[in-house]
Amino acid sequence: MTDLQTSPITRSHNQGLLELDRRHLIHPVTSFRGHERHGARILQSGEGMWLTDVDGRRVLDAFAGLWCVNVGYGRESIVEVAAEQMRRLPYATGYFHFGNEPAIRLAHELTRLAPEGLGHVYFTLGGSDAVDSAIRYIVHYFNAIGKPQKKHFIALEWGYHGSSSNGAGLTALANFHRGFDLPRPWQHHIASPYPYRHPEGHDDAAVIASSVAALKAKVAELGADNVAAFCCEPIQGSGGVIVPPRGWLKALRQACDELGILMLVDEVITGFGRTGPMFACEAEDVSPDFMTLAKGLTSGYAPMGAVLMADHIYETIADAAPESLPIGHGFTYSGHPVSAAIALEVLRLYQEGGLLENGERTGIRFAQHLERMREHPLVGDTRGRGLLGAIELVSDKGSKAGFDTALDIGGRLSALTWEKGVIVRCFGNAVIGFAPALSCTSSEMDMIFDRVEGALDALLEMPDIRAATGC
Ligand code: PLP
Repeated sequence: MTDLQTSPITRSHNQGLLELDRRHLIHPVTSFRGHERHGARILQSGEGMWLTDVDGRRVLDAFAGLWCVNVGYGRESIVEVAAEQMRRLPYATGYFHFGNEPAIRLAHELTRLAPEGLGHVYFTLGGSDAVDSAIRYIVHYFNAIGKPQKKHFIALEWGYHGSSSNGAGLTALANFHRGFDLPRPWQHHIASPYPYRHPEGHDDAAVIASSVAALKAKVAELGADNVAAFCCEPIQGSGGVIVPPRGWLKALRQACDELGILMLVDEVITGFGRTGPMFACEAEDVSPDFMTLAKGLTSGYAPMGAVLMADHIYETIADAAPESLPIGHGFTYSGHPVSAAIALEVLRLYQEGGLLENGERTGIRFAQHLERMREHPLVGDTRGRGLLGAIELVSDKGSKAGFDTALDIGGRLSALTWEKGVIVRCFGNAVIGFAPALSCTSSEMDMIFDRVEGALDALLEMPDIRAATGC
C-alpha cells in the first residue's frame, strides 16, 4: 500500500469526523464500547473493486461492500439514471392505487427472470423487511385459507434472515437473539447442511438426507397442521458461507411439498449472479412459494429489496379478502422510483453488460485460489460457488478444532487484512468470507488472494497463534 501523506488540515478534519462518529452514530451489529475504542474506518470513494478511505488509503474490496455492490463502484450509467429519475419524479407512493413506471417495469422484469410461478412482487427497502413482509404474508395466507393454527416457522442453524423483530428470530446467530428475547415460541431451527462439520463428512447424499430427515422430524414434533413454512438461504452467508451439496435445495423443496408446508427461499445474498446464475434457485430448478431479494437488486446504489410471491398464494389471498378491505401491509417507500430505476439499470448491466458472464468466468479462478489455500497450515476448509466463498481456519486440521474465542481471530484478521489492503469478511468463528464484485478481473482476484495469504502468514507468525496451532 502507498505511504499516506495527509495534510495537517485533512488529519484534523478526519479526527473531527472520528470523534463525531464516536459520539453520535450507532453502527450495525457492533459492541457500542468496542466501536468507540476501535473508531470508524471512514470510506470516501470507490472505483471498480477499489475503495479509498478519508486518509487516502486504497483497499481492494473483496466483499462488495456487504455482499451487495455486485456491479462494482463508480458506475456512471447508474448515476445517470438515478439523477434523471430524481429530476423527473423523485418519489411516488404506491398507496391509493398510484404507481410509477420504473417500479412497474422492475416488477415485470423480476418475474420474468425469477423461477416459474413467482409472478408477483412486493418491494421493500432491504432484506430484513423483505423477510418480515414474507412472514406477514404467510401468516395472512394461512388465516385466509382457514388454517389459522399453521403458524410455526422452521429455519436453519447458522441461518441469517435479517434483523427485524420477527426475522431476527428466524436468524440463528446468537448475537441477534441475545438480549432481544428471541427466537419466538413459533420459531424453530434444524441443523445446518454444513459438509465440513457434518458427522458423516463430505458425503453429499448423507448431508441432504439428514436435512430432509431433520425437517420431517421437526414437523412431526410440532404437528404438520401447525407448521406454516420452512425458510432457508440456498447458501448460508452470514453464518460463514456454508455451501450445501448440489441437490440439497431441490430435496428440501420436495420435502416441503410432501409435508404440506410453504418454502421461503432467502436469496438476499445469493441472487443476481452471486453464485453464477441469476438466482441460486435456478441452478436447482426450484420454484419456492416466496423468494426474498435485496443487495444485488440495486447493487447497493440505493436501498431496495423485494418479496416475490407465488401466483397460487397471491390468488388465494386475493380471493379470500373482500374487495372493500385492504391487505394491511405497506411501506412509504415500497416501489421507490429512484431505487427501481437504478435496479433496472443494474439488471441491464448484469445481462447486456456481461457481468453475469464475467462473474462465472472469474468464479473459476476464485475456485482455483480457494483450492490452493487448503495447503496453508491454518486452513481447515475452503468452499464456494460462483463468487461467494469462504476459508475456514482451524487450530488442528486433523480434529478440525477451532480457536479459543479469547484469541479474537476475527478481530485480528480484520486488522491484518486491512493492513494488507484488502477487505474480506472476518467472522468470529475464524471464517473468512469473500464476495467480490462480478466485475472482478483475474488479476484483481490474484491480488485478493496474495493479500489474504499475506495476512494469514502474519497471523501464523503471532506467538500465541503459533502456540495454539502447534506449528
Ligand atoms: N437475508 C439474508 C440472507 C441476508 O444475508 C441479509 C443481510 O445480509 C438479510 C436477509 C437482511 O438484509 P438487510 O441487511 O438488507 O436488511
